[in-house]
Amino acid sequence: KRERDFASKDQPAMTIDGHRMEIVANIGNVEDAKQAVALGGEGVGLLRSEFVFMERSAAPTEEEQTDIYSAVAQILGPERPLIIRTLDVGGDKPLPYLPMPHEENPFLGERGVRIGFDRPEILRTQLRAILRSSGLGNVRVMFPMIARLEEFRMAKGMLEEERQKLGVAPIPVGIMVEVPSAAVIANQFAKEADFFSVGTNDLTQYTLAMDRGHPKLAPYCDGLDPAVLSLIGMAAKAANQQGKWCGICGGIGSDPQAVPLLIGLGVKELSVSIPTIPSVKAQVRDLSYAECQRLAAQALAADTAADVRNLSPLAEE
Ligand code: PEP
Ligand code: MG
Repeated sequence: KRERDFASKDQPAMTIDGHRMEIVANIGNVEDAKQAVALGGEGVGLLRSEFVFMERSAAPTEEEQTDIYSAVAQILGPERPLIIRTLDVGGDKPLPYLPMPHEENPFLGERGVRIGFDRPEILRTQLRAILRSSGLGNVRVMFPMIARLEEFRMAKGMLEEERQKLGVAPIPVGIMVEVPSAAVIANQFAKEADFFSVGTNDLTQYTLAMDRGHPKLAPYCDGLDPAVLSLIGMAAKAANQQGKWCGICGGIGSDPQAVPLLIGLGVKELSVSIPTIPSVKAQVRDLSYAECQRLAAQALAADTAADVRNLSPLAEE
């Protein structure tokens, strides 16, 4: 492992040739927000709002949710972005008060935003709470498991209706790119979304058709597979071409072998696990953007994930 300067955790992350990266955190509750800021996080790239809904016997009310999102927004302050992802549960993550019919393939069933279309009151209540907290910080909303443009339009339409009823200002709205179809038609999505955040955990699972938690397949379910990298590159390129931005919130954002490739593919924001914020920032400061672009091109042309990981200088990470 390389020696790195973790002391500058509060400084921005800029490559040696002046390319700025935004290093933000994946968080799951209010306490995480404090830790993310303490460790130099420049904001929150993914608030997994599931925590608000879990371990309860009834859905949280609009007031309860507003209080929680407002608390996080206030910890982050007016500058640091807070991206709140709407509820992402499904057949595999059941909630007692949300009975779901048995599904043969829960990962291909009513997950993520699809639940919000089936139970619009749950999604609308959450959207109102997010909108009501938005005046207290730099709040953005993001929809999970978007596969088709119609789904994004429908979710965005619900957001806009609730916004008009509340009479608050518009907020940026983005999508998780975690279903391959969203990456494949990223050009179309980039015209209508304000930002993308690639969920590489699910994107890898759906691209390789390998359950992300499967004990035997886990070693092969690698986000550095050239097929997955190619989809990430498509998403980033489409966003950049439309003057939008593309981030990453899947687990590979914290993988030192992935960081140079993601930068080289045109990703602008890395949302990483809290403890890795200082090390990811330190790594970015050691990199050259031109070199990252060269490495990314090599990775896209590689045959296998193992070949990608063996690329020099990634192999030394
Ligand atoms: C992902 O799929 O990469 C992601 C960040 O979302 P989650 O892990 O919560 O499914
Ligand atoms: Mg996901």
